[in-house]
Amino acid sequence: MNDQASSVEDVRKKAGLRSKIQHQLFIDGKFVDAKSGETLTSVNPHDNTAIAEVSMAGRADVDAAVAAAHAAFPAWSHASASDRGRILLRLADLIEANAEELARLESLDTGHPLRDSRALDVPRTALCFRYFGGMADKVEGTTIPVDAGFLNYTSREAIGVVGQVVPWNFPLMFTSWKLGPALAAGNCVVMKPAEITPLSSLRIAELMTEAGIPNGVVNVLPGLGSVAGQYIAEHPHIAKISFTGSTATGRRIVQASAGNLKKVQLELGGKGANIVFEDANLLAAVNGSAWAIFHNQGQACIAGSRLMLHERIADEFLERFIALAKSIRLGNPLDPATEMGPLTSMLHRDRVLGYVATASEQGGSVLSGGKSPADPSLADGFYIEPTIVRARSFKDRVAQEEVFGPFVTVLTFSSDEEALQIANGTEYGLGAGLWTRDLARAHLFARELKSGMVWLNSYKRVHPASPFGGVGQSGYGREMGFEVMREYTQVKSVWVNVDAKIAPWYAR
Ligand code: NAD
Repeated sequence: MNDQASSVEDVRKKAGLRSKIQHQLFIDGKFVDAKSGETLTSVNPHDNTAIAEVSMAGRADVDAAVAAAHAAFPAWSHASASDRGRILLRLADLIEANAEELARLESLDTGHPLRDSRALDVPRTALCFRYFGGMADKVEGTTIPVDAGFLNYTSREAIGVVGQVVPWNFPLMFTSWKLGPALAAGNCVVMKPAEITPLSSLRIAELMTEAGIPNGVVNVLPGLGSVAGQYIAEHPHIAKISFTGSTATGRRIVQASAGNLKKVQLELGGKGANIVFEDANLLAAVNGSAWAIFHNQGQACIAGSRLMLHERIADEFLERFIALAKSIRLGNPLDPATEMGPLTSMLHRDRVLGYVATASEQGGSVLSGGKSPADPSLADGFYIEPTIVRARSFKDRVAQEEVFGPFVTVLTFSSDEEALQIANGTEYGLGAGLWTRDLARAHLFARELKSGMVWLNSYKRVHPASPFGGVGQSGYGREMGFEVMREYTQVKSVWVNVDAKIAPWYAR
C-alpha cells in the first residue's frame, strides 16, 4: 500500500467509515485519475489534517466527461420516464441504507455536526431523490386551442448535456437538488463539486452505479472553479448550466456561458431579513432565529443573517438570544453531542473574522462571540464562536454583504414601514421571515418583501416540493418542485393539420 492509500485508510477507520473514500474523477461510469495527474488535498476542518488527495479535473477531463454524456444522452432521454424514475427511487433507498456512512463522510469533509448530517443532510438527500424519482413520469405537456382544424400540443423535452457547479456549504444535499430533477427530465450531467468538499458527491456517484444509472449519464469532476468550473460554463457542447454559489462567480458564469447561449440557472447569495415584531411569541422567535443563523455555522445562502428586532422587545429578546448563543456546544463534528462545528475552510474562517473587524470599524458593537473559541482541543480547526453584532445602520457593510458564517447582524426598527424599508434595503432577495401574531401584517409582508421565499413564524424551511430561489442579485430560475422541471426541459410546440380549411394564400 502506498503512503497516500495508507493514510486515507487511517482517516477512514478513525472516522468510523466502512467503505473506501473515493477520491478520483467519475467519468463514463469509472473512477479515474485526472489526465494531468493533478490532485488537491481535501482537509478535515476540525483539525486541518489531510483526508485524501483528490484528483483535480482539467479541461481535457471535462471534454472526456462531456463526450461520455453526449454518447449516453440518446438512450437516457428516450428511456421511459418511469424507468428513469425507478433508478432515482432505488438511489433514495440506497442512501437510506448507507445513511450513517454518508453522514460521517459529510461531517468529516465539511465540518457539519454529525447530528445535522444524520437528521438533515442525509434524510433530505434521500427525500429529494425520491421526490424527483416520483416526478419523472409526471411531466406533462398541454393541448392548446388554436385555429379551427388544428391540433396544437406541447411536450417537454430534455435539454441535453447539463453542467452543474455545486458549492461547499451543503455538498451532499445540493448534489441531490441538482442531479434529481436534471436526471428525471432525461438530461445527462457533468457536475463539479466544490474543490474543498468533493467526497460525498463522489460517494453518490458510486451509489448511482449501484442503483443502475447507465455509464456516462452522470459524471462527477472535482476541480478548481477557475479551471474546470470555468470550462464547464464556457463549453460549447453543454446546453445548460445550473450554478449555486457566490454572486460574483454567478456573474462570471453568465459571461462565460454567452458563447453558445446556454440556458442559465443561478442560485446565489443572500442577506436574509429575520424580523421579530413586538407581538411575536418570543421564545419561539429566539429559538427560530438561532436556527436561522447558527445552523451549519451560518454557511447558508438562506441564513437569517439580519436579525431585525422591534425596539420594544429588542432588549428582552437579545438577553435570551445571547444566552442561547453562548450555550451552543462547539466541538468535533463527529461527536454526536456537538451542536456547532468548524467553518468549512481556513480561508473562509478568516474571511468571516475579517467582518468582525469591519463591524467595529463602522461603529458596530460585538454583543457576543467574534473570535475563535479558547478551547485548546479546537485550536487547529476553523472554529468561530456564535457571533452577534449590533450595527449602527442598515447601510453598514455587515448589514449589506453576505458574511456566510455564524455571524448575525442586529438592527432595530420602530414601525412596520421602517421594518419593510430595512428588509428590502439590500441588493439580495433570497429568503426572509417574520415572527408576529398579526395575520394581516404577516400576509402584507409576505406580499411586499422583495424575496423569493418568505417564512411566517418559522425560518429556513426547505422541501423538494417547494420552489427555491431568489430575485435581484440572488439569482434567477428555481430549484425544486414542478418549477425546476421547467429549468431542465425545453418546450416543443407541435401543430397538426387535422381538417383545417386553409384558403390558398397564393391563389392563382
Ligand atoms: P464560489 O462561488 O467561488 O464557489 C462556489 C462554486 O463555484 C465552487 O464549486 C467553485 O469551485 C465554483 N467556481 C468558482 N469560480 C468559478 C468560475 N469562474 N466558474 C465556474 N465555477 C466557479 O464561492 P466561494 O469563493 O467558495 O465562497 C465565497 C462566498 O460565496 C461565500 O463567502 C458566500 O458568501 C458565497 N457562497 C454562497 C453559496 C450559496 O449557497 N449561495 C455557496 C457558497 C458560497
